[in-house]
Amino acid sequence: MVTLTPQQSQSATSPDRPEVHKTVHYQIAIVGGGAAGITTASWLLEKARSLDIAIIEPSQKHYYQPGWTLTGGGVFQIQDTVKPQKEVLPKEVTWVAERAIKLDPENNALFTTGGLKVEYDCLIVCPGIQIDWHLIKGLKEAIGSNGVTSNYSPKYAPYTWELIRNFQGGNALFTFPNTPIKCGGAPQKIMYMADDFFRSKYGVRQRSNVMFLTPKTRMFSVPEYSAILENVVQERDIDVKFGHNLKEIKADTKEAVFDVLQDDAIVGEVSIHYDMIHVAPPQSAPDFIKESPLAVPNNPGGWVDVNKDTLQHNRYPNVFGIGDASSLPTSKTAAAVRKQAPVVAENLLNFLGSQPLSAHYDGYTCCPLITGYDKTVMAEFDGYNARPTSSFPLNPAKERWVMWVMKKHVLPWVYWNRMLKGAAFEGDYIKPLQWRQK
Ligand code: FAD
Repeated sequence: MVTLTPQQSQSATSPDRPEVHKTVHYQIAIVGGGAAGITTASWLLEKARSLDIAIIEPSQKHYYQPGWTLTGGGVFQIQDTVKPQKEVLPKEVTWVAERAIKLDPENNALFTTGGLKVEYDCLIVCPGIQIDWHLIKGLKEAIGSNGVTSNYSPKYAPYTWELIRNFQGGNALFTFPNTPIKCGGAPQKIMYMADDFFRSKYGVRQRSNVMFLTPKTRMFSVPEYSAILENVVQERDIDVKFGHNLKEIKADTKEAVFDVLQDDAIVGEVSIHYDMIHVAPPQSAPDFIKESPLAVPNNPGGWVDVNKDTLQHNRYPNVFGIGDASSLPTSKTAAAVRKQAPVVAENLLNFLGSQPLSAHYDGYTCCPLITGYDKTVMAEFDGYNARPTSSFPLNPAKERWVMWVMKKHVLPWVYWNRMLKGAAFEGDYIKPLQWRQK
């Protein structure tokens, strides 16, 4: 693998006027070497070894982010979720170890922090999602100490476990924001693990008030899975507050301030004391995408504007978008990326060969809903129609021990050894069943 590292330049470069030290050209440029970028590059290389591909990716580390929930729950160490980037990038690609700062699709070019101008024939945009910590007042200052945590960063996921492990009773709050987020189930999964753990320690759960606070009006977007979670919270005596949107953390008094919503309008404000709080922060497309011509026009999320079936950009046909940064109207997960990547690979090759785009994505996604230390609902669904599907000959709308084993042992293995390598695995040969409960 060729690696291009940043120029040792003292001169400043800014997104408005990127300074260019060198111009390079690749047949395919991929912005972001996370789950989507690497998986798509691998699928492309599987189909055509000779492709000239560059991945623009600043991070030296590659994280398996679904493992952060298990880190927060004390099942994994954070180091179990990470590998050096150079080990997971396909050997055939050029790694541009820099951050993209400006996209110029009119001229088939992008610019990087180190002063590179990267020209391309085709572009794949997948820089993931941006965590907007700053949108909750006081959060940036408070997080990581005095009971405030989030599994949405590898920096704080170990602190979640420290809080859960040492919790002696009081208010344990778990929040959901008023934006789309990656893995919409993650804010609940950690709550169920915490609740389970508190019950295993003499008297702790009796002294605790476990609360889930969300601007939404139901537990999950798919009615069948929502019904299970409603039962779970009822059985476990978890206090759910719908129509509550976290807006401020007051670290000095340990208070969380929420807007109270009715039909999306703010009708009041409430302040709740916390002894620990797990925050799922607001999220959006990275700023450099929002500010680029690739974003959906007039949409505050700033997502990459792609066709939901072909994943081709709606205005720039040589651009494709995939993963969390895309406008795809489905739940943002690595499981979704696993199904999107072969579609992008096939369609991009169709495009290069001047053929009609032949592959279609159906909105498949999956959120393994951990409901305790030995049970999980494998919530697979067709995200475009909010209908449960299953890759297994089992009713997916059930808590199962075997799905906990899948989440803990099988899925991480599949991610590192099959998905990132662009390889199908047995599940891919089974057409998910549109599950209908009798
Ligand atoms: P990422 O994997 O985030 O990759 C984006 C990459 O782009 C990063 O490497 C980043 O460094 C790079 N980048 C950012 N900005 C730039 C730039 N300017 N220039 C170049 N590169 C850039 N998914 C599941 O399927 N199941 C789960 O159980 C699950 N649980 C989760 C739990 C948590 C706590 C979290 C945080 C996520 C979870 N996910 C889960 C979601 C899953 O991790 C993401 O959906 C998936 O990683 C999306 O892939 P991506 O490539 O779009 O983004």
